[in-house]
Parts: sequence; structure tokens; C-alpha cells
Amino acid sequence: MIEPNCLWGWECAMSIHERDGFSNAKAPRAAVLGGGVSGITCAGALAEAGWDVTVFEKSRGIGGRASTRREGNLTFDHGAPCFSEEGGPFAETVNALLGSGSLAPWSRRTAQIRRGRIEFSEDCALRYVGVPGMSSLPRRLSRGLRVLNGREVSEVRVTGSGSELHFKAGESEIYPLVIVAVPAPQAAVLVSGIDFLSNAVSRARFSSGIVAMAAFSERLDVPFDDASVDGSDLSRVIRDASKPGRGDSDCWVLHGSPEFVERRLEEDSDESAERLLSEFSSILDRPLPEAIFSSGHRWRYARTTKPYGESYAFDSKAGVGVVGDWCLGDGIEEAYASGAAMANHLLEVSGVSS
Ligand SMILES: Cc1cc2nc3c(=O)[nH]c(=O)nc-3n(C[C@H](O)[C@H](O)[C@H](O)COP(=O)(O)OP(=O)(O)OC[C@H]3O[C@@H](n4cnc5c(N)ncnc54)[C@H](O)[C@@H]3O)c2cc1C
Repeated sequence: MIEPNCLWGWECAMSIHERDGFSNAKAPRAAVLGGGVSGITCAGALAEAGWDVTVFEKSRGIGGRASTRREGNLTFDHGAPCFSEEGGPFAETVNALLGSGSLAPWSRRTAQIRRGRIEFSEDCALRYVGVPGMSSLPRRLSRGLRVLNGREVSEVRVTGSGSELHFKAGESEIYPLVIVAVPAPQAAVLVSGIDFLSNAVSRARFSSGIVAMAAFSERLDVPFDDASVDGSDLSRVIRDASKPGRGDSDCWVLHGSPEFVERRLEEDSDESAERLLSEFSSILDRPLPEAIFSSGHRWRYARTTKPYGESYAFDSKAGVGVVGDWCLGDGIEEAYASGAAMANHLLEVSGVSS
């Protein structure tokens, strides 16, 4: 979070205000690029303080890697299957959302599968899920926010009077303040003209992921809901149907192992899903029930393997910041913490909290 050109808070405040032609009568304007947990958390905190914030999200839905794939009545948490919390502000948010019904604890039967042997492992750590799907978390956090879907930003060009956002569709808009909330390798392209931020994003590393989603015609009779798998093309198998508020169909999400992902990253993801299903059948040593739906999904940037090491990075002269799970580590809680820390900083240095 080291900020060049900003030794004191008031200097940052000045650059934010000047860029916006700020006066007390006018709320600062900001654009947040990316509608995942980090971007929405940051945007939500700024909007709550009266800022004029717009979230630009490239896909049709919200939540990024904490989203839910829907196929008719079937739902699959094809990114993060669940999350935990370690206390602090995120725990307060989780508690508030538990009361609203959009989150619930997930009590699951856990196991470890090694060379086809199922060993029961008691995982006492509390895990939470969105209800009726993981995307309920980002959706609730984004309530009241201006989120524009289908708006992919291809370039952030810093000018003397703000940053020009160039959209893939061809148009452009100018904002005094821009927060980039996308995985580090994608952020690298957007902030390539800002040395300080380029350096920050280049410190983080990501791994890719491949998942198979399948719904079976009848319930698969296995004594676990969430199993980690060793020595296989699978690394984890999850009965999504065991989560609270899901439908009646037996929906599963199977995660490929790192070796499988490395081999298959550029291959057709539906074919990869077929292979993961066949591997599941092979480690259970029996045929699976007929799949009424199956599909694969590739996450080119799935998990942080090496974090940046600070909550966020902000270049006050450019008026551009970067946030994301990858700043602090890996996971939804880290994404939330990064977005919240960036917003706190902006509110503090601008002196405009409401
Ligand atoms: C398979 C898998 C399993 C996981 N398991 C867990 C788990 O068990 N527990 C846990 O806590 N976490 C888990 N995670 C990680 C968790 O999902 C992430 O840490 C968290 O969701 C990251 O949020 P984020 O806002 O930092 O990034 P993202 O969710 O990646 O959000 C970035 C958003 O930016 C958008 N975007 C990208 N480029 C642009 C652009 N140019 N213009 C506009 N929009 C753009 C994307 O569409 C996306 O919506 C898992 C992730 C995956 C993929």
C-alpha cells in the first residue's frame, strides 16, 4: 500500500479533489473495474459514504470467482464452494447476512480419498455458503450499487485530468478515480502504464483451475459431501446439493488436480469435465448414475499462489488503485479485506466520508 507522491494524507486528498474539481457540494466520482467481492466491497463502502461510484463488470452476472452457474433448476457453485471467516469486519458482515437468510453455515460430511480408500476426516472449521447459491454473497453486498454488466475495460489511460477508461466495445469515459479489482495478471494489462502499480501486480502469482459440474438422475450414494482427493486427476469433490437452500437434484462440482489442470488448460472444458467424471467413477470403483447435465469450466486465474503482500496499492498521482484477493492471499475473506482497506484509505485521505 506504499504510495508514491503521497507523503501525507492531505496530498492524496488534494489529488483526489483536484482531479474531480471537488468541492464540498459534490460527491467524489469513482469507477471500480470488476464486480467480484473485492470490487463490490470497495464500491459499497464508498457509495455508503455518499460517493458517486460505478462498477464496470465484464460478464453478465456478478461475483466473479464467487458466483453461481444456473442451468434451469440446477445450480452449481463452480468457483469458490464456500468460505470461512477469521473475525474482524468480515465476520460482522457475515453475521449480518446470516440474519438476512442470504448466507448459511454449511454442515457437511467431510472425507479424504486416497488411492480409492475413503477415510473420514472431521473438519470442525465452520464454513459458510451463499443461499440459494454462492452468488448471493456478492449480490447482497452490491445492493443499491450502480453495477454495469457486460462492460469490459480494455485500457486505463492516465491523463492530466483523470483516467480514461477504454471499453472493449469501443467507447470511453473519464473518471477522476479508478479502482481496478480484477485478478493480478488481468490487472497487469490495465495498469501497464503506471509503474508503481505494474510493479505491485507483478509480485502476485496465480494458478488456474478446471471444474466439472454434473447433476445425476438419482442420488449418488456416498457417505460424504466434501472430499479432498489425493493421487488422482481430482483434487476435491463437492456435493453442492448438500448445501442449504439448494434444489432437489443431486448436483456435484468436481475440481481437477493441479497436474490435470496443467495438462488440460487449453483443451475443451466439456471434454475435461467428462474425464473428471470418469475419474470420479474410477476412484469410487463403480459407475455413476446417469448425468442429466454436465459441463466444464476453466478458470484461467483461479487461486493466488503468491500474494502481493499489502492490502492494496494506490498511486495517488494517477488516482488509480488495485485491489483483489491476491493482495493479501487467497480467498473471499482476503478479497473483502482488500476492498475494504482501499475504501477506508480513500475515505480517510479525502476527508469526505459522507
Ligand atoms: C475453483 C475455485 C475454488 C475456490 N475455492 C475457494 C474456497 O474454498 N474458499 C475461498 O474463500 N475462496 C475460494 N476461491 C477463491 C475466491 O473465489 C476468490 O478469492 C474471490 O472470489 C476473489 O474475489 P476478487 O474480487 O478478488 O476477484 P474476482 O472474483 O476474480 O473478481 C474480478 C471481477 O472482475 C471482472 N473483470 C475482469 N477483467 C475485467 C475487465 N477488464 N473489465 C471489467 N471487469 C473485469 C471479472 O469478470 C470478475 O467478476 C476459489 C476460487 C476458485 C476459482
